[in-house]
Amino acid sequence: MNYQIEGRVAVVTGGSSGIGFATLRLLLAEGAKVAFCGRDRERLSAALERLRGEFPDADIVAHGCDVLNAQEVQQFAERVEQQLGAAEMLINNAGQGYVASFEQTPESAWLHEAQLKLFGVLNPLNAFLPQLRRSGRASVTCVNSLLALQPEEHMIATSAARAALLNMTLNLSKSLVEQGIRVNSILLGMVESGQWRRRFEQRDDQSQDWESWIAAIARKRGIPMGRLGKPEEAAQALLFLASPLASFTTGATLDVSGGFNRHL
Ligand code: NDP
Repeated sequence: MNYQIEGRVAVVTGGSSGIGFATLRLLLAEGAKVAFCGRDRERLSAALERLRGEFPDADIVAHGCDVLNAQEVQQFAERVEQQLGAAEMLINNAGQGYVASFEQTPESAWLHEAQLKLFGVLNPLNAFLPQLRRSGRASVTCVNSLLALQPEEHMIATSAARAALLNMTLNLSKSLVEQGIRVNSILLGMVESGQWRRRFEQRDDQSQDWESWIAAIARKRGIPMGRLGKPEEAAQALLFLASPLASFTTGATLDVSGGFNRHL
């Protein structure tokens, strides 16, 4: 399949690990020029080195920045335009979830989740918008979660913030359609990635290995496909929505949850 993105510029926020990193690999395999960001400089350099090893001739920019810092994101956008040309695909992936019930969630966590899920998308969008506008066939694709439609008590603040993001992206799709910018989201269930690796490190039963630990989670949570998703599976959905193959799709969500969705 030809994704029609050869030579085009794609930006992935939070590309140094997990789903973002898998997305960069797919974009590069399709011949795109890519830029990504993350806060941890060592993780960023390690990711850049791996990508350069795999795609030695590719155009790649790795930039240290926090998506919540509008000024840093603006500098990232300027560097991308200078080094690669105008961005045409923005994939908003940076972030992580907050696991806590109502009783365990302090006000600071509510505020941080709301800020991360909304401004983690708004800051990159504002910074890259002038570039996206020039494309005529640009896309913004957001990594969101099934929690947006199917809230979970043990992630109450993340669920609410995810719903707000979904609401905002639908509106953005209407606001930006006349500028030739499509806005879509993927809704994830549980996907093996950095945040699950970190939870694994803190598991109660340290004798359990990774495979049996994630299989037990899939069983306990009742994921119909009986496993967690792979980062590449989320990345494939992002690649499709970001690419011109989804040229008549905007304001949409694509479920990547192994059948975990129970909403209509
Ligand atoms: P990872 O932890 O593997 O990757 C997260 C990436 O985002 C890292 O590169 C991280 O780098 C970066 N990042 C996090 N916060 C910021 C920030 N403020 N500014 C810039 N970069 C940031 O996790 P996943 O791949 O799982 O997560 C990707 C997205 O998918 C997240 O938004 C997550 O909430 C969402 N998601 C994941 C699910 C899952 O089961 N895996 C389920 C539902 C949603 P660094 O820390 O160095 O900044």
